[in-house]
Amino acid sequence: MALKVCKFGGTSMADGHTMTKVKNIVEGDADRRFVVVSAPGKRFSGDTKVTDLLYKCYSDILSHGDCKRAFADVRKRFEGIVKELGLNFDMASVLDETERRIEEERSEDFTASRGEYLAAIVMSELLGAQFIDSEDVVFFDEKGVLDDKKTYAAIAAAVQGKSRAVFPGFYGRDVNGKVKTFSRGGSDISGSIVARAVGASVYENWTDVSGFLACDPRIVDSPKWIKTLSYKELRELSYMGANVLHSDSIFPVRRANIPIVIKNTFRPEDEGTSILPIAQYKPGGNIVTGIAGKKDFTVIFIEKSNMNSEIGFVCKVLSVLARYGISVEHIPSGIDTMSVVISGDHLDNFRLEQVLESIKAEVEPDFMRVTENIALIATVGHGMSSSVGTSARLFKALAEEGVNVKMIDQGSSEMNIIVGVKNEDMEKSIAAIYREFFTNINPD
Ligand code: ADP
Ligand code: ASP
Ligand code: MG
Repeated sequence: MALKVCKFGGTSMADGHTMTKVKNIVEGDADRRFVVVSAPGKRFSGDTKVTDLLYKCYSDILSHGDCKRAFADVRKRFEGIVKELGLNFDMASVLDETERRIEEERSEDFTASRGEYLAAIVMSELLGAQFIDSEDVVFFDEKGVLDDKKTYAAIAAAVQGKSRAVFPGFYGRDVNGKVKTFSRGGSDISGSIVARAVGASVYENWTDVSGFLACDPRIVDSPKWIKTLSYKELRELSYMGANVLHSDSIFPVRRANIPIVIKNTFRPEDEGTSILPIAQYKPGGNIVTGIAGKKDFTVIFIEKSNMNSEIGFVCKVLSVLARYGISVEHIPSGIDTMSVVISGDHLDNFRLEQVLESIKAEVEPDFMRVTENIALIATVGHGMSSSVGTSARLFKALAEEGVNVKMIDQGSSEMNIIVGVKNEDMEKSIAAIYREFFTNINPD
């Protein structure tokens, strides 16, 4: 018998109405036995996600000792949901206890995790299914990395004999017994972990779009739907900003060849997108599969004559960044030049100054320049660099749009071409590349 693990995102869990859709989907297929949920997301544009309300609770604790006022909003959301669903259990006590523990623990991760915890309790009541607390079955090691063996064994043991169970996404427990969360959007990873642990035949990720689209639908109106993606393409696109699925969520399922299917809670009949191991994947007709972009990178450009023949040059530059604990995203290079691309999250002005001074001292460059507020755009597909004319088309599309390309990195994986543009040019660049590869009909 097939066994499906279903993860429902924040928009699917937003209120009683959407949770009823979740219930119908789960109960509509006996194979859908294990459910992973996110905290309630936005109900309308301008609304606040429960997780963001909880981060506010934590900042209130830090600034004035308690989170009474901010937690009142969380309480209101959940009380409203329970009332709308007509559930008959003591949610008020669960909320009281949660508020008490948030104030007692005084931990950002613990506080943020409570959205998923409360959502899973409500969903388990709604489905009449077992609630399994992820704190008891998802473990991180001393480096803060998932302890996969221990986790998979604990989940497999916890689901023994259960026909249906609900897990909160987003968190687990660290070696000190404290709740620890994944990065934002991390319930996608939790779903993948449960799928792997129970040996699911498929990991269904239910969201508010009918699958992966060729680019962000907030940038281009109704982009082309992608029927299948390889794990690698998914990783490239999601890492570079296509946040429909967290980029780390492929790791647990990939080793076990479990396909991921992205489905729409609001249009369950739509086929969705299947993400498959390369062996099962047949590329579509297009050279380009999708386009994604992310803002706020910093590029350090370094020039020195005969850089190429100076043994260990790149290594010295990178070791400076390593000393400051800064991870590097890309290193495009030429004969006498190299650029280092860093995510802006890692840098404030003071640290940047220190890093530049250290690079100067270490490699004595002829010239160095820093460009901030750069957006990276990844154009992803299989065998892109071996397909003649792909980059020419891409750069022509950007030139015609009047976009000044600040950096180019054609990935050695043949999977992507990455360009750096000014932050404010990101949307129009993505739209131009999309038009070139998905809608342009060449007259000759
Ligand atoms: P959930 O709350 O279900 O986890 P997310 O907001 O994390 O949902 O992800 C779904 C959203 O991702 C969509 O509503 C869409 O706006 C956005 N998105 C960005 N890039 C893409 C893309 N390439 N394809 C589909 N959706 C995308
Ligand atoms: N609720 C968490 C967040 O907002 C995790 C998730 O939605 O996957 O990031
Ligand atoms: Mg998400």
